[in-house]
Amino acid sequence: MLKFYDVNFRYENNEKYLIENLNFQVDNREFISIIGPSGCGKSTIFRLITGLEKADSGNIFINDENINNLKGYIGYMPQRDLLMPWRTISENACLPLEIQGKNSKEAKSEAEKLLEAFGLGKYKDKYPKDLSGGMKQRVSFIRTLLTGSDIMLLDEPFSALDAITKISMQEWLLEQWSNLKKTILFITHDVEEALFLSSRVFVISEKPITKLKEIIVPAGYPRDRHVLNIPEMMDIKEELVNELKQRVEL
Ligand code: ADP
Ligand code: MG
Repeated sequence: MLKFYDVNFRYENNEKYLIENLNFQVDNREFISIIGPSGCGKSTIFRLITGLEKADSGNIFINDENINNLKGYIGYMPQRDLLMPWRTISENACLPLEIQGKNSKEAKSEAEKLLEAFGLGKYKDKYPKDLSGGMKQRVSFIRTLLTGSDIMLLDEPFSALDAITKISMQEWLLEQWSNLKKTILFITHDVEEALFLSSRVFVISEKPITKLKEIIVPAGYPRDRHVLNIPEMMDIKEELVNELKQRVEL
């Protein structure tokens, strides 16, 4: 589904490479979390996948197509995914369809169908300020979904939410993932969040990024939060926290 092949990248004004000879692969319909200290390059990996940044060398493939030749859109929910305050909820959600050239009436009606399906129908004519944090993130998710992309890149989508809303959003997301049959890459700082959501966790613990350390989560789907308390999971949690803590101390 997604493949990084010997990817090298550095920002123009930097001498040092941020990503060096990076290889990894994600299969269709996987739920992968990427975890690592702040500033290590997680969001940059997403920017490379979406083509916002270009690799200096190496190749990135989606469904065996080099992303340089890709025609479709990639669903990307950036870290600071503010909805446009002057647009209504349905006008915000339908943005990707407008960008793809649909006329705004058609785009709005398609977005409204999806808002309805996600239980947000009655908010369609409201503005972002009228919605709670969790609801706004659902709208952002719907907007990302409307790109039509098979792969969804979610960059710390729940990091600004309070603890309880965050937990219910995680459960909500797993449900959507299983219904929609998408591939999800999910960036987070939160070890429990990564373990609860994903089948594999990619840990970044070095700069430049030369590899992603893979942890296979020892639990299947559907899952509930109890899996976080099984001994094997507690050990992995401990190991991950220690690994990330060491990086912060450096
Ligand atoms: P993360 O998402 O893991 O916190 P980023 O991918 O946003 O990290 O950034 C990785 C590093 O690249 C950071 O040191 C950041 O300062 C630097 N960086 C990010 N964007 C740019 C840019 N446009 N130009 C130069 N350096 C950048
Ligand atoms: Mg980031």
